[in-house]
Amino acid sequence: MRGTVQGVGFRPFVHRLAAEHSLSGLVLNDGAGVWIEVEGPSASLARFEASLRSAPPPFARVDSIDVSVLPAEGTHGFRIVPSVASGGIRTLVPCDSAPCSDCLRELLDPADRRYRYPFINCTACGPRYTLVRDLPYDRSRTTMRAFSLCKACREEYENPNDRRFHAEPNACPACGPSLSFSSSNGDAAFAGDRAVRAAAQAVAEGRIVAIKGVGGFLLATSASDPSAVQRLRTRKHRPHKPFAVMARDVDEIERVAHVSGAAREALTSPARPIVVLPLRQASLALEGLAPGLREIGMMLPSTPLHFLLLADGPALQVMTSGNRSDEPIAVDEASVRGRLEGIADAFLTHDRAIHTRLDDSVVRVVAGTAQSVRRARGYVPAAIPLPFGGPPVVATGADVKNAVCITRDGEAFLSQHIGDLASPEAFGFFEETIGKLGRLLGVVPSFVAHDMHPEYRSTHWALSSGMERIAVQHHHAHIASCLAEHGRSHPVIGVAFDGTGCGPEGDLWGGEILVCDMAGFRRAGHLRPLALAGREAAIRQPWRVGLAALLDAGAPLSAFDDVEPARRDAIRHMIARRMSSPMATGAGRWFDAIAAIAGLRREISYEGQAAIELEAIAPAGDHEPYEVVLEKCTPFVVDLRPTVRGVARDAAARVAAGTIAARFHETLARALLLSVRRVREETGLTPVALSGGCFQNKLLAERVIELLTMDGFEVLVHRRVPPNDGGVALGQAAIASCRCWHLARNG
Ligand code: ZN
Ligand code: ZN
Ligand code: FE
Repeated sequence: MRGTVQGVGFRPFVHRLAAEHSLSGLVLNDGAGVWIEVEGPSASLARFEASLRSAPPPFARVDSIDVSVLPAEGTHGFRIVPSVASGGIRTLVPCDSAPCSDCLRELLDPADRRYRYPFINCTACGPRYTLVRDLPYDRSRTTMRAFSLCKACREEYENPNDRRFHAEPNACPACGPSLSFSSSNGDAAFAGDRAVRAAAQAVAEGRIVAIKGVGGFLLATSASDPSAVQRLRTRKHRPHKPFAVMARDVDEIERVAHVSGAAREALTSPARPIVVLPLRQASLALEGLAPGLREIGMMLPSTPLHFLLLADGPALQVMTSGNRSDEPIAVDEASVRGRLEGIADAFLTHDRAIHTRLDDSVVRVVAGTAQSVRRARGYVPAAIPLPFGGPPVVATGADVKNAVCITRDGEAFLSQHIGDLASPEAFGFFEETIGKLGRLLGVVPSFVAHDMHPEYRSTHWALSSGMERIAVQHHHAHIASCLAEHGRSHPVIGVAFDGTGCGPEGDLWGGEILVCDMAGFRRAGHLRPLALAGREAAIRQPWRVGLAALLDAGAPLSAFDDVEPARRDAIRHMIARRMSSPMATGAGRWFDAIAAIAGLRREISYEGQAAIELEAIAPAGDHEPYEVVLEKCTPFVVDLRPTVRGVARDAAARVAAGTIAARFHETLARALLLSVRRVREETGLTPVALSGGCFQNKLLAERVIELLTMDGFEVLVHRRVPPNDGGVALGQAAIASCRCWHLARNG
């Protein structure tokens, strides 16, 4: 049997089934999946096979069953025999899963031998991807190898009627991993349950505690203590970027945020992602958690340890990645104290190694359905089917929000969120992930797909990999990622709106209307470009882009009257002389420009901040769009100069920034509708795929979906894969697979 059949209680299931049908034989894990030999009357064998297909365990996914007839051996009884590491590896590692209800009940039962034991798990729940070192999946190939089972645990492990029968991470307080707590100044040290209580107490007192979780260290503090939150911001050098909050239960979440049906479903799913939720008006107690925003990321406990901490400590706790800004989440016990020095007041750690780093996942509900924003715990390494088979490909993704992707036999495996490759730690994580994912999949890629940006670190890696290279245009990859997710390969109108990406001639793209399929693309139209005075500096200081937009539109510059004249003149000069001021069509830069002109934000401290705040202040309801013109050239240009003049007029007349924001969103949505209509007239195409980081903007995405649907378009949007650069590797891999497939077919 092939598929996700290891680490999901499959062998125990087979054992029970064999017993039910009075069959003898054996079951084992090998590299290819699960191998079963059963002996008995043919009618029983047929019923056995039918049950295998019709009722596998909840987390299993059966891809195929190959059946052949062997001579009868006259065996008695049914055995689970040790794994065999032979044959090509074709099985899949399951995702990590939050504790099941049976384990939770035991966790809180004082009579249970695992009462308050934070590493409780069973075949239906617990860590998987984070602790598997190699396949086939069994204890000796996981980080649990370091702990030998005690007598009681071994009995469970060996008893086919026990729900921990062959639960590889099985553990108890007598034999499994244990916790320790220590304060940074060395005043306090506790082990076991006292460590949990001490950590919960420290969090309640507003101290910052580094907690070793399943996929890395988190920093926790009390969410309802504004001074604690502020301390965390100062120490992490993170003045504005929102923090996620873990809540004891859904009721606690509902006290501060609105929870829709789709949001509740995501919150309580085994993946336990952070869900971005609209804040209630009265929840201003959560001061400083999401400055300038009307939404907050919240989650439920995802491990037994988190259940205990939330039960003992405050009902709402900030849980943010244990790292310095822009570094990947810390996992290494030895280095973590150094890396978090000056940030954490105390440490709650344990003695089980983290093999694979894994962040919390983030989703947001868009148009009534959950959409991935950051894909990690609970979703990785699930397979995404591709329309093409072909040789294994590794795709290196983009440089920010990096994730990589490896293909195997017509399926793509998009890695967990890796992050911004600028830091050496993140680049190390990137290389490590390519190696580990390839090993778990049992493939050695022969092709590498990469971005066209010559300066991306991911491109450099591809260039020096020695593999055959396939360069993929950034926005084509965005659209292909959306198509792959929907199992499409036929031509569509692709709208890729993001910050900036590299065009085929080295120019900067990011507001693109494409006609494309997996094989190729044509640029049908794009937004009018803006000058980025000082390149990266223009992205950190949206007022520079705002000034460029005003100059371009011939609008008065009064919005920036308060900027120091010398500074303003320097930027004007740079733009006029085209000095370090490349032109870029990025839709994200248009959000920046409007936010700056509207007086909302001049400089940012995290990526996308101006656009995120512009979305947040826009009031609901109908708003008049500003004027736009579609220029009749090829590719056509969406001329937003009339919009800029309108925004400048409104800003000068002291119209509220929220109104300007709402009108601008409406303008962009309408401009997009006009654009895709023009492409439809030309090509007859009706499916439209929306991708790029700007479609994380719920206000824009929902309005665009509404307008396009009413106009008869079929709209494809991201669900399981992020629309931002976290999805680019999937698109690269899909395009590369398609090219390999065509090459093979045409000899
Ligand atoms: Zn369980
Ligand atoms: Zn034990
Ligand atoms: Fe992008």
